[in-house]
Amino acid sequence: MSASINRVEISRAALRHNFRVCRSKAGTARIMPMVKADGYGHGMVECARIFEAEGAQAFGVAEPSEGAVLRRAGISRPVFVLVGLVPENLADVLDHDLTPVVADSSILEELSRAAVSRGREVGVHLKVDAGMGRQGVLPGQAGGLVGRIQELPGLFLAGIMAHFPMADEYDSPNTRQVFARFQELTRTLGDAVPQDCILHIANSGGLFHFNETCLDMIRPGISLYGCYPEGEPHQVETGAETLRPVMRFLTRVIQVRELPAGSALGYGRTFVTSRPSTIAVLPVGYEDGYLRRLSNRGEVLVRGRRARIVGRVSMNLTLVDVTGFAERVRPGDEVVLLGSQGRETISADEIAGWMETISYEVLCLFGNLNNRYYVEE
Ligand SMILES: *Cc1c(COP(=O)(O)O)cnc(C)c1O
Repeated sequence: MSASINRVEISRAALRHNFRVCRSKAGTARIMPMVKADGYGHGMVECARIFEAEGAQAFGVAEPSEGAVLRRAGISRPVFVLVGLVPENLADVLDHDLTPVVADSSILEELSRAAVSRGREVGVHLKVDAGMGRQGVLPGQAGGLVGRIQELPGLFLAGIMAHFPMADEYDSPNTRQVFARFQELTRTLGDAVPQDCILHIANSGGLFHFNETCLDMIRPGISLYGCYPEGEPHQVETGAETLRPVMRFLTRVIQVRELPAGSALGYGRTFVTSRPSTIAVLPVGYEDGYLRRLSNRGEVLVRGRRARIVGRVSMNLTLVDVTGFAERVRPGDEVVLLGSQGRETISADEIAGWMETISYEVLCLFGNLNNRYYVEE
């Protein structure tokens, strides 16, 4: 692959650091890094290798095909398939020794048949809807499903999980309610739950803001990738406990133009210069995940200073205003779209604010639409 102008840099040291921060908060709970969405844009295989070396006990993906990729890359710890089990991909689950998470009874019989035909005993985790209102069985139906798992040949109950809808909010009463409901359910199930059954519910928000919810295993995602689930401003943490951003997104100036006052810039002529202006042209656009929503509102870093986006972001081009910069901006200059340059930083949360979304989406867009390069620091 020839070098691209736009590059996403991923810091291995930051991934390790964030894993250690999570581990220091997890107590005795196992850690299952969520590496779905190609590691939130950071590269699933590379991240899983780093986390495995740091002691991660399992990995979480959405679909069996992702688990197959991890296995082919030599990842040997349990890989949980959290979302998409359908009859057509059960062979992948069995052949790659993935851990199925089941959300209702519809797939159980086929899973049992597939297990029996291969002479296997498959440990199933049950997904309970304890308040997320998305996927899973309601607590009242969990008992029946646990019974079904235990009676079907080739299957056994290895874990029970739920998910928090609001753990990113400090002190959200909802999180306490959902947790209480989950605890109550596991108590009610009593002896139906085997001794070594793994209970898990905490995402990054649970880990950071409701530490008592760690139970047997935590499932952090965004915090491993260096962002706090609540965005900015986040709870002030200092020193070794502070998460470090992992991703930078860089481009270069490809042209610098001097334009008179009254020049309309780009599609729709949404920006007209009010003074003689120096405009830097960047070869990045919505094709690269640098969304059109950033038009006339986002900023970039060039020569250590912030420069405002002017006019519409288009498919492959973006314009920024560098009028009056003490250090002249020149073609070839490095431009930081996400990350630090000199003393300035643009965070994924700041970009998320401009894009009216959350850091998760920014990281997935930039990381999965551009060439990634791994750097040590
Ligand atoms: C994505 C996901 C997580 C991780 O959430 P973060 O907020 O990124 O920590 C945990 N559990 C489940 C079920 C998920 O789908």
